[in-house]
Amino acid sequence: MKKDCLFCKIASKQMDAQLLMETDDLVVFKDINPLAPVHLLFVPKRHIRSINDLEQTDGPILEGLIFAAKEMAVKTGVNKTGYRLFFNVEKGGGQEIFHLHMHMIGGWES
Ligand code: 5GP
Ligand code: ZN
Repeated sequence: MKKDCLFCKIASKQMDAQLLMETDDLVVFKDINPLAPVHLLFVPKRHIRSINDLEQTDGPILEGLIFAAKEMAVKTGVNKTGYRLFFNVEKGGGQEIFHLHMHMIGGWES
């Protein structure tokens, strides 16, 4: 847990957010400023700054994010219409919250 990190606070429930899914290792919630009809954030509970800071042993964290996305795709119905998963990495890559997270966007009419 990093002091003053928004996503650490959400993941540890020090700050309110409606969690759509939670496991021992991650939480999922809606993006406050959605870029698509469905825009979810998949956030590991452990504070990792970005993809750049991942260690080889963090593989299971990434695996967890992907399988959570697969599950949420079914729950939101975007598994049928299609969706994008992406990570913004550091300022030049559009990252604004420096706690690793994966975006899921979709739900457009196809
Ligand atoms: P980044 O640009 O770092 O990849 O994405 C950060 C995302 O977090 C943005 O899409 C932004 O809308 C979202 N966000 C920022 N603050 C909050 C918040 O307090 N609650 C939620 N649910 N999303 C947030
Ligand atoms: Zn954090």
